[in-house]
Amino acid sequence: MIVKPRIRGFVCITAHPKGCEAKVREEIAVARAAKCESGPQKVLVIGSSTGYGLSSRIVSAFGHEAATLGVFFERPSTKGKPASAGWYNSVAFEKAAHEAGLYAKSINGDAFSDEIKAQTIETIQADLGQVDLVVYSLASPRRTDPKTGETHRSVLKPIGESFTNRSLDTDKDEVCEVSIEPASEAEIADTVKVMGGEDWELWMEALDEAGVLAPGAKSVAYSYLGPELTWPVYTNGTIGQAKKDVERAAAAISQKHDCQAVVAVNKAVVTQASSAIPVVPLYISILFKVMKARGTHEDCIEQMVRLFNERLYGDAPKLDSEGRIRVDDWEMEPDVQQAVAAIWPEISTETLFEKSDYKGYQENFLKLFGFGLEGVDYEEDVDVELDLPSAQS
Ligand code: NAD
Repeated sequence: MIVKPRIRGFVCITAHPKGCEAKVREEIAVARAAKCESGPQKVLVIGSSTGYGLSSRIVSAFGHEAATLGVFFERPSTKGKPASAGWYNSVAFEKAAHEAGLYAKSINGDAFSDEIKAQTIETIQADLGQVDLVVYSLASPRRTDPKTGETHRSVLKPIGESFTNRSLDTDKDEVCEVSIEPASEAEIADTVKVMGGEDWELWMEALDEAGVLAPGAKSVAYSYLGPELTWPVYTNGTIGQAKKDVERAAAAISQKHDCQAVVAVNKAVVTQASSAIPVVPLYISILFKVMKARGTHEDCIEQMVRLFNERLYGDAPKLDSEGRIRVDDWEMEPDVQQAVAAIWPEISTETLFEKSDYKGYQENFLKLFGFGLEGVDYEEDVDVELDLPSAQS
């Protein structure tokens, strides 16, 4: 079929198989160019199909020749309808990894469940023995607690008082104002339940108990801090509380297991998760303009190259006072933030394309779903029913 983008709010409900493959191959080329001697050998990536998790998997495999096992929750093609972008990314990743002679298998299902943890452990036992790096990169709006069966939903809200600021209406390409009421105590607790550190701890517990965690293994989970203008809805909001809980979990995991667990604070990038956060897409559009002008712009793959090669396995971990790895350092440089803050009051629907890189934001967003890639013929009839190569072996 001929696949065109169909955008609904902050998601695109279609994805292009060849476009997703082209995007994965672009990231592979970046990882290959930064190939590095020291690094992980056997890697489990939880949330490996899009965004930071996909780039972590690509850097592990193509930058360090590691065997990778990926876990994600994606929609395969059904009844002739295109699959989700993460599905096509994973098909393309596995294909390229196998071509390069690298082990790559994937598990599609709910990572919060006991069943998927058990299936992952069985696969490690059968194929890899142990893993020496566990990347935890889930971003989900809901989680069903495996013990109680209760489903918790996360919210993106401020805490204590309401918050009003500029935001983007990406359907209309307009700058608008958003007002968000503060979260209730129950909503804060639910967000921590979904996006906090509990599930990461359960994973590490299960892996260690099964003996599939290599001695002295590393584990990393991702966080974001950002500038003051997003703090009410991010760092000081419900998601910020969840991220504080991820930091608590890092310390608890390191103490309990023979494992070095760490939180890496990454920069703001366009992903399916970040496009859903109020204010953030407008901030990202301005940030891109400023960082591209300075030549310091990075996407997920460049961030993960720096994280793996310099911080996690290199000789410049550069931990902050809270023990976190910072790869948001270029984003948080004072002159970058001053330049963003100077543009912020000048931004309006009329000045959006001139004062910010909203065009770049839009292109980046479409690329997440495989649209707008060079060399892809979007008028071509393509096969949308692709299976994961590892499922056939
Ligand atoms: P993303 O939406 O691109 O990726 C989320 C991944 O989680 C996908 O692989 C998806 O399949 C998987 N997933 C979701 N629910 C699942 C479930 N129930 N079971 C199995 N897999 C599931 O998100 P992202 O932006 O790459 O976020 C990853 C992490 O990076 C998050 O912790 C996020 O807070 C953090 N982070 C993101 C940014 C940013 O700007 N996007 C910045 C800093 C940190």
